[in-house]
Amino acid sequence: MSLSLYIHFPFCANLCGYCDFYKTTYHTEQEQIYLDALRTELRLAVNDVPVESRVLDSIYIGGGTPSLASFHFLRDLIDDINNYFRLARDLEFSFEINPESLDSVKLEYLKKIGVNRPIFGIQSFNLRLLKTLDRKHKLEDSFRAVYLARALGFANFGVDMIFGLPRQSAKLLSDDLNQVIALEPPHISYYQLTVEKGTPLEKKVTAGKLRLPDNDLLAAMYRGISEEMKKHGYFRYEVSSFARPGFECRHNLRYWEEGDFLGLGPSAHSFIGNRRFANLSDLSVYIQKLSKGVRPLIFDTDSIDSRISEAIMLGLRTARGIEREHFARRFGMPVEKALREETLRALIDAGFIAPDSSHIRLTDSGLPLADEIIRRLVK
Ligand code: SF4
Repeated sequence: MSLSLYIHFPFCANLCGYCDFYKTTYHTEQEQIYLDALRTELRLAVNDVPVESRVLDSIYIGGGTPSLASFHFLRDLIDDINNYFRLARDLEFSFEINPESLDSVKLEYLKKIGVNRPIFGIQSFNLRLLKTLDRKHKLEDSFRAVYLARALGFANFGVDMIFGLPRQSAKLLSDDLNQVIALEPPHISYYQLTVEKGTPLEKKVTAGKLRLPDNDLLAAMYRGISEEMKKHGYFRYEVSSFARPGFECRHNLRYWEEGDFLGLGPSAHSFIGNRRFANLSDLSVYIQKLSKGVRPLIFDTDSIDSRISEAIMLGLRTARGIEREHFARRFGMPVEKALREETLRALIDAGFIAPDSSHIRLTDSGLPLADEIIRRLVK
């Protein structure tokens, strides 16, 4: 059995108004203190991983803005990972990069330490839209990042985009789509902007200072994205994830298919041997606890019902759907038992769900409505 490893880098140069990931402002001294705590956490966490599972087939360093990390931070971290784990020969090693924090020396260094899947957080090619998100990069930063990835021989890389931005029209979305497709990244994630509670963006939207596209326009935008992706050879394997064949993100598939993964750093989640747990989302407490040799864990006390709902939600958002046999083994019942019978029948008749002997999955017309379908379907 192999494992996926997620490492959270909880620092950003600038805090974007729409973001609710756990992060704080970057300081060099804090980075060193964090590195010490992270190394302690890794040492302690490895003890909870059975020896036979200490084989990594994916590593994902996300954040925050991991592309701000110093070479020293990365070198020590990778040395430790190599000490504690064996790496699969075809390891997928993803690393999130903000375009403005990248140059050729840094990308070359990332390649040297084993990163083989940089992910560029471009979000949009429209400067005005980027400003509404408080993103600091310029268009040339985005183009340079992709150019460097190609020049350095990265066969696999991803671009993250967002739609449904304040003041985004169908025409502006189409401009973004044309630009991202022209770059031909092997993988594109196209997320719909979520207005998260308590964020500066929410305050502006509530105060009427920013207007979001209405639901009809959002649905048309998603349809447009899906069609363009298909036309240009991208396969949708999850609601927001599009890839050229063979370039699906193994790490994210591991989450969605509920395989084992270990998450390190504040706010990181883990799922090992059917046991789910998370770290506290507080850097000071995280550092304090680890300085005493204690893992900063919150054990998940979720009921079996919420685990079932989560398995259905994760499964139905992927193109493969829910694997019947896996579900039955895990929860001791057929998946249909966890679904509203009449709703399921109606959704099958309407062509939104296509069950077969091995899987239950959403059809091409069902996937864009995944959230609504899941809400109605789960008991
Ligand atoms: S969106 Fe990215 S760069 Fe902006 S605050 Fe969140 S984690 Fe940091």
